[in-house]
Amino acid sequence: VVEEGVPDRTVLTTCAYCGVGCSFKAELKGDQVIRMVPDKDGKANHGHSCVKGRFAWGYATHKDRIKSPMIREKTTDPWREVSWEEAIAYSAKRLKEIQAKYGRKSIGGITSSRCTNEEVWLVQKLIRAAFHNNNTDTCARVCHSPTGYGLKQTFGTSAGTQHFDSVEEADVIVVIGSNPTEAHPVFGSQMKRRLREGAKLIIADPRAIDLVRTPHIEADYHLQLKPGTNVALINAFAHVVVTEGLVDEEFVKARCEDDSFAEWRDFAADPVNSPENVEKITGVPAEDIRAAARLYATGGNGAIYYGLGVTEHSQGSTMVMGMANLAMATGNIGRLGVGVNPMRGQNNVQGSCDMGSFPHELPGYRSVADDAVRGEFEGDWGVELDPEPGFRIPNMFDEAIAGKYKGMYVQGEDIAQSDPNTHHVEQALSSLECLIVQDLFLNETARFAHVFLPGTSFLEKDGTFINAERRINRVRPAIKPQQGMEEWRITAALSEAMGYKMPYENASQIMDEIARLTPTFAGVSFKMLDEKGSVQWPCNEAAPDGTPVMHIGEFVRGKGHFVLTDYVPTTEQANRKFPLILTTGRILSQYNVGAQTRRTQNSDWHHEDVLEIHPSDAEARGVHEGHWVSIRSRKGETTLRAKISERVAPGVVYTTFHHPESGANIVTTENSDWATNCPEYKVTAVEITPANHK
Ligand code: SF4
Repeated sequence: VVEEGVPDRTVLTTCAYCGVGCSFKAELKGDQVIRMVPDKDGKANHGHSCVKGRFAWGYATHKDRIKSPMIREKTTDPWREVSWEEAIAYSAKRLKEIQAKYGRKSIGGITSSRCTNEEVWLVQKLIRAAFHNNNTDTCARVCHSPTGYGLKQTFGTSAGTQHFDSVEEADVIVVIGSNPTEAHPVFGSQMKRRLREGAKLIIADPRAIDLVRTPHIEADYHLQLKPGTNVALINAFAHVVVTEGLVDEEFVKARCEDDSFAEWRDFAADPVNSPENVEKITGVPAEDIRAAARLYATGGNGAIYYGLGVTEHSQGSTMVMGMANLAMATGNIGRLGVGVNPMRGQNNVQGSCDMGSFPHELPGYRSVADDAVRGEFEGDWGVELDPEPGFRIPNMFDEAIAGKYKGMYVQGEDIAQSDPNTHHVEQALSSLECLIVQDLFLNETARFAHVFLPGTSFLEKDGTFINAERRINRVRPAIKPQQGMEEWRITAALSEAMGYKMPYENASQIMDEIARLTPTFAGVSFKMLDEKGSVQWPCNEAAPDGTPVMHIGEFVRGKGHFVLTDYVPTTEQANRKFPLILTTGRILSQYNVGAQTRRTQNSDWHHEDVLEIHPSDAEARGVHEGHWVSIRSRKGETTLRAKISERVAPGVVYTTFHHPESGANIVTTENSDWATNCPEYKVTAVEITPANHK
């Protein structure tokens, strides 16, 4: 990182790490970025930043960046650098050959939540219009797909309900399966400010995250539940609300469906959901559950914030709907200071979902099977679209192993490292006849690739990201594309080589198309964003300045819909052979699989993943602080250094997965959410034994 000199110009852009979406001024001297300075007018960050956005941008010019397209016949061959023309022609030829041999649906692709909306839009369009199928999915599959499903069922739209500043009106903050101070630091600080002002705090997490006890803040309740029992806990909250007369009857009568609420009320009142019964499932004392539920229902504005500790479970979607039910029953929705708020992991998870990356939905979450919607896109794109949903990522892997799915275009996601059950993923990737990887670095997935198309970093992109509060932020190029081609042009060139023309002149024209075809974006353009700064969708004729808080007066679907949320234990249970439950999380200075942050000075602060283990479990196994341990699950085995810690309860161990050598996903299973196939990263039965250094 160059941190010296007087800049001769600045470019206003958006951080490409987490879902907070902080605005930054990139300060440049000549053609070199010398500093990233948080923008005081940034509507998501108000001049604040964290160590990732502020310091960890040097990866953009790191020596490991691949600058030239490369191809190889077989994965055992050495890479051969080629021109863009040759790489694109070669990719199209191989994909066409596969379709000719195995059929139209034998190829597909994955969009990236790190790329801009404009880039994602083109990838899903390439698949639908040039591949002629719906085999498009997004890396959001493995993080927040249950949010998309659950909030749509209950409220009618697949997005968080509030803007970040809404937390300043919250009286009771409920944090479930989220670690805001590590994973969303700028919003975590905003939340801390509100807590220091006196807001109450309820945390439901198997691990004692920093917010449980930090200077001047102590959680009123830390419900340290066993991993995999979220739904039982939320049902117990519902039981207390219903049986103790804490329902906001006026709100429910005016805003929600009579029938589904009546059914839910009966369901919640069932003694199976009583705190006393749920204590046996979750391990959380019944009196704490009762007291926390009363506090949420009666303490003023109650705001729920949740993360991957909710979604990455076999009942991820059920839990999202459980929280939505609870918010509606207590009237904690549709105004400032309340709501159900997913803390999105990557910078553009919200956008990649909005842009139609899912195999069953066209942009704007509209079914591919809907003739009218499809007709609209067909009219604009001039091509017939497939009415059948395509493959989700796990289906792509299964079909690849079965020999039916043979070609894949992966934009900016390292599936070989980030997806669960690594051995299974590697088997699938090895079965492909053409894998095209588009990324900054030769990542783990590229080991299986036949074509490597070098992508661009956020400092080279022109477009938009959408953060966790639905805010559409401009991303502006500070430096030229290091590999000579804007990323959206790569997709457009591949599409043209496949036979479908994408004649855009610039990224702004892609946003114009997004606005034309997606009602919630109807009022959005680069010009408008450049004038107004940023807006939160829906932004259209009805809401020309955007929508900070959703569902005011009426839910997007009309009346709020209650869903019954039976608790179904995960099949991934501890037993005598695998007596501990492994759960996973993040750390402040690193980001996701670390491809970017590991190539910056942030690695000085965190250079390896470790395994947290409770002192009693460590002692029982002869495990010592800092020594290597083997972690064995039903799927595989890896080795990490042990950290003895009381942050985890006895019976639970915890690690991060920022470093490929840790191999955390070697042990995770392919269990997944029943509705969306989001992997159950948060629950893996394991045994720990002392080990030698690997
Ligand atoms: Fe902001 Fe998140 Fe970037 Fe940190 S990583 S600067 S909190 S957007």
